[in-house]
Amino acid sequence: MKDYTAILNEIHREIQPHLTGGQVADYIPELARIPLGGFGMALVDMDGNVHTCGDAARPFSIQSVSKVFTLTLALKALGDDLWDRVGREPSGSGFNSLLHLEYEHGKPRNPFINAGALVVTDVLLDLYPDAVDAVVQTLRRLSGNPDVGIDEAVAASEESQGFRNASLANFLKSYGGLDHEVGRVLSAYFRHCAIEMSAVDLACAGFFLINQGVPLGETERFISPNRAKYINSLMLTCGTYDSVGDFAYRVGLPGKSGVGGGILAVMPGRFSVCVWSPGLDAVGNSLAGTLALEWLTTKTGISIF
Ligand code: GLU
Repeated sequence: MKDYTAILNEIHREIQPHLTGGQVADYIPELARIPLGGFGMALVDMDGNVHTCGDAARPFSIQSVSKVFTLTLALKALGDDLWDRVGREPSGSGFNSLLHLEYEHGKPRNPFINAGALVVTDVLLDLYPDAVDAVVQTLRRLSGNPDVGIDEAVAASEESQGFRNASLANFLKSYGGLDHEVGRVLSAYFRHCAIEMSAVDLACAGFFLINQGVPLGETERFISPNRAKYINSLMLTCGTYDSVGDFAYRVGLPGKSGVGGGILAVMPGRFSVCVWSPGLDAVGNSLAGTLALEWLTTKTGISIF
């Protein structure tokens, strides 16, 4: 067994000069207030041991990392029918781009770009009387933390400035891609993006993806092993914005990032890991977070490749 705690501590020491690089996501005013310099990392191994360094227990805005879990709920309920409404290909363009939607007549490229995630949110609105609460409850269960909740100030802040997402939602609606009212879909979307969790919470929540669909501390499957495979594949091919190729090359793990600076990455059969550092690179991935994950797979010699 690797000494993951020692490796994380080494990464924490070596990453220090990189923590002031990048920029926080200032298009969401509440997130613009987070200072650069924070860093936390948590890794859960197959025995359920949690290894941490830095601010691993500090909650942050999970933003698009929530899309792993909304996708999981939609896939669990709809199975392959989900793919009638959203594709499974990398977009090759920005996460909030309108371009493909017009070319492809309102069917988003994948469930992780904003347009695709809005469709998934629309699906959840059909499935649950309170879709956002279903996501929160799922995350509480999977992380084992009953205090997981929404930072309503972040949700309101994004809603007040969410012109691009409003365009995407209206565009989708014009193609018949959304069943529910645009405002309702957007509000649910902004709220699930505004869920706050720590690196420890997210690493624990991702455990079912490395454990054939069985969550941490449970014995029953949450999803089938095959569906866990599908979600991991989508994280690898679509999870890190328009630099999935570079992320796969450097890190070698399926990962999903969010503009709050978090990245959840999974090594099936070995570990689930989450890193947080708010400075983002030009495409929106945490700069130090990506580097830390690259060092983790290099230092441990463990990656899916
Ligand atoms: N709520 C953010 C948005 O829609 C999420 C973006 C992200 O984390 O990728 O712009």
